Amino acid sequence: MSAAEWEAVIGLEVHAHLKTRTKMFCRCPLEYGAAENTSTCPVCLAHPGALPVPNRKAIEHTLKLGLALGCEIAEHSVFARKNYFYPDLPKGYQISQYEAPLCRTGALDVPGGPRVGITRAHLEEDAAKTVHAGGATGRSVGADYSLVDFNRGGTPLLEIVTDPDLHGAEDADRFLRLLRQTIVELGISDAEMEKGTLRADVNVSVRRQGETGFRPRWELKNMNSFTFIRRGIEAAIREQVAAYERGESFEQSTYDYDPDTDRLTVHRSKEEADDYRYFPEPDLVPVEPPAELLASLELPELPGARIARVGEHVGLESAWELVSTGNDRKAELLAGVGLEWKSAAALAMNRGDFLPGNAAALAEIVQANVTREALDDAFARAATERIDAAPYLAQTTVGDESELVPIIDAILAANPDEVAAYRGGKEGVLGFFVGAVMRETQGKADPKVVNRLLREKLQA
Ligand SMILES: [Zn+2]
Repeated sequence: MSAAEWEAVIGLEVHAHLKTRTKMFCRCPLEYGAAENTSTCPVCLAHPGALPVPNRKAIEHTLKLGLALGCEIAEHSVFARKNYFYPDLPKGYQISQYEAPLCRTGALDVPGGPRVGITRAHLEEDAAKTVHAGGATGRSVGADYSLVDFNRGGTPLLEIVTDPDLHGAEDADRFLRLLRQTIVELGISDAEMEKGTLRADVNVSVRRQGETGFRPRWELKNMNSFTFIRRGIEAAIREQVAAYERGESFEQSTYDYDPDTDRLTVHRSKEEADDYRYFPEPDLVPVEPPAELLASLELPELPGARIARVGEHVGLESAWELVSTGNDRKAELLAGVGLEWKSAAALAMNRGDFLPGNAAALAEIVQANVTREALDDAFARAATERIDAAPYLAQTTVGDESELVPIIDAILAANPDEVAAYRGGKEGVLGFFVGAVMRETQGKADPKVVNRLLREKLQA
């Protein structure tokens, strides 16, 4: 078997809970962690005659994402009923969008990776949450009974569908992280996998290199961990290639990924769209976003653009880390006032917060090579108050050998046993000498110079 002859084809369907005060079609508040079944009403419990009213904020959030992904925004968009039965869906249908989504045909460029086409982004309501209880596993198979929490039912849900432009687990991981960061920075969702506010369905198929068209895909549903998504994709590719190499074939199906065994098991054969009997939701009017509304939706500079820009200075790996931890703006401030980019990036990552107005003073202090204590103090204060560089600059380190050598000589002379121990192979004793020099100089000695001088003298 040679996996190199095979190419993976991966597309994602990403779901994000939108950050709104109330649900998609009713006024029930959305509170994470509220007691079960306390946030419900006749609309989200589907009592007869109750009518939905769309959440304006949720529509604005969806449009914002559409603009950020360069999508075409629909002039005329409709909600549709997606019909199916499940205990977590009291209406017997989910209000979603089908033929006329709010956004379609966009793209997200992954810095250092592929450009991923966005097929569509639409708005729908989430189902309630089923909790399987009792039994050996607490899973749907083997549970004693199941409970439904209707608090989640009706939560505004943004679904983003990509084109099949991803070709490996690493690509998919990068794309998903960038999309998540974009969503978070747009302020439209917390997008936290651990809390279930971000989930993804992953469609994986393989084909021989050079083959056009697609083979049946495996759909990994409701994946809620970056690690499991990566491993699930790898497992799907591995198992599909192995099956084809054995001469087997299979149908398009949904699969469950079991992280414990790192294997996939068939869940059910996939429904086609026809099975859902989509039709336009008769209780809701079409949405026609006015031009003034679109013009009023302001977009910040997006993380993809910042990663590409910062990456030119520090490399893409570090740029990803800076942006995903929110430290890139701090690095940029420090670099903007004369610090070399790499040390600016390192300071931003390791030294924590500072007020933007303090960037110039901090850059000056860092470049003056002040003592470690002075640097710690400067960064600690710079997080909460305006600082002046002058008092810190007075505390520069002593790196002058002519000052340090006599101090070191005296310390070595006073500790002959430790000197002998070091020369006998106990290199850990070096720390004892460094500490002694730092005490003698009240912390002002440059540790790099002290280390070098000590090693030289101890080797003699
Ligand atoms: Zn409600």
